[in-house]
Amino acid sequence: MKEALDFLNKIVSFQSVSTDPRKEKEIFALVKILKNFLAKEKFKVKIIGKKCPLFIAEKFVSSKSKTIGIYSHYDVQPAEPLNLWHSDPFKLTIKNGKIFARGVADNKGPLTQNIFSILNLVKENKLKNNIIFLFEGEEEIGSRNFSFYLNQALSILKNVDLFFLTDVGMVKKNVPTIYYALRGIVYFEVEVWTGKKDLHSGVYGNLVYNPSQILCEIFAKMKDLKGKIKIPDFYKRVRRISDKEKKDLIKNFKNANEIKKIAEVYTLNPLDKKYSLISAKIYPSLEINGFYSGYIGEGSKTIIPNYAKAKFSIRLVEYQKPEEIIDLVKKFIKNNIPKGIKYSLKVLVNAKPFFSDFNHPYIIKTAKVLEEEFKNKCVFMREGGSIPSAEILMNKFKKPVILTGFILEGSNIHAPNENMDLDLFEKGILVLSKIYNIDF
Ligand SMILES: [Zn+2]
Repeated sequence: MKEALDFLNKIVSFQSVSTDPRKEKEIFALVKILKNFLAKEKFKVKIIGKKCPLFIAEKFVSSKSKTIGIYSHYDVQPAEPLNLWHSDPFKLTIKNGKIFARGVADNKGPLTQNIFSILNLVKENKLKNNIIFLFEGEEEIGSRNFSFYLNQALSILKNVDLFFLTDVGMVKKNVPTIYYALRGIVYFEVEVWTGKKDLHSGVYGNLVYNPSQILCEIFAKMKDLKGKIKIPDFYKRVRRISDKEKKDLIKNFKNANEIKKIAEVYTLNPLDKKYSLISAKIYPSLEINGFYSGYIGEGSKTIIPNYAKAKFSIRLVEYQKPEEIIDLVKKFIKNNIPKGIKYSLKVLVNAKPFFSDFNHPYIIKTAKVLEEEFKNKCVFMREGGSIPSAEILMNKFKKPVILTGFILEGSNIHAPNENMDLDLFEKGILVLSKIYNIDF
């Protein structure tokens, strides 16, 4: 276990911040460390791509064995604001049963667990399945080259029978959790121009369009205050979730007070009145992410602005197709913009939803091991957020992708004082050794 912590300490010291081009050297240095370390353990290493490369390492056992692809990412979010950290973000600090450092939960801790779970089996000469590690370097910037890089490794990856992705957590400590659905996302930017300059509101009021009003009306028509999206045909592919599935989800979910406390909101506005708390998990949603128009400085300025801009995004659930939703939104805006008004609509992000069959035999076998090890029933959960790599792996290889992990609520992912539970770090390695050695 000390070896695993030493390794984690070493890899968190590299500032592998993928969004910051000044950190390119740190990324290369980290990739080199991973390469040397795994090559020494007789893994066959392949590095694909120039910037933030995809790192692949293979351990072959037998052509009769199943092949498991294990995904992690080695890039991290920036550590800023540094003054809010209680310890050096690039040095492992252990305190009150937790390990602290940038990336310790997302995703260098789980990456280390994956490596050491396999090394333990290798050392004891017990490894049964072929292993292929896939360590991505662009997860935190939207996995923009992931699919492209995978295409350059098809000859290796075509043999994979199932993938594991441990970039997720547990609903509660020691309650094993498998995530079977993640929402997809399409993100838009819309701009409206009514003319070339701002106008005097006294002289032109009642005579010209106001771009701010135009966008407000469009958004009001797109979605009502209850949360229902009113774009025609928007819900047509949405799967009807049974009451049983909803009950199972809500049983393991936080209560209203916990959610209000975590979110620090004054009141909740759930779309589903009966199963209100899982409204963000089971339905698609549309949110305005930013809105700008006119004068917002001190005092008053009596103008009619000539320009308005907004950003909005839609989270998608299983079976909804981003391209189809983009077309519906384009049509909707076109039909609702007054004639003669200039506008532009850009798509900034586009990721499909992830959905896996939780009755698949591989998932059942994995859940059984988790239950034996944690002595608790495995929870099958959905996540409202998106992990593009999970969906990319599933769609490209048409093999099961199993999402499980050991991160807890309060681990401050992307925030100062990111941490991972020390017990779960250690126990996770032992549990993963068992899972990766299942006779799938
Ligand atoms: Zn992240």
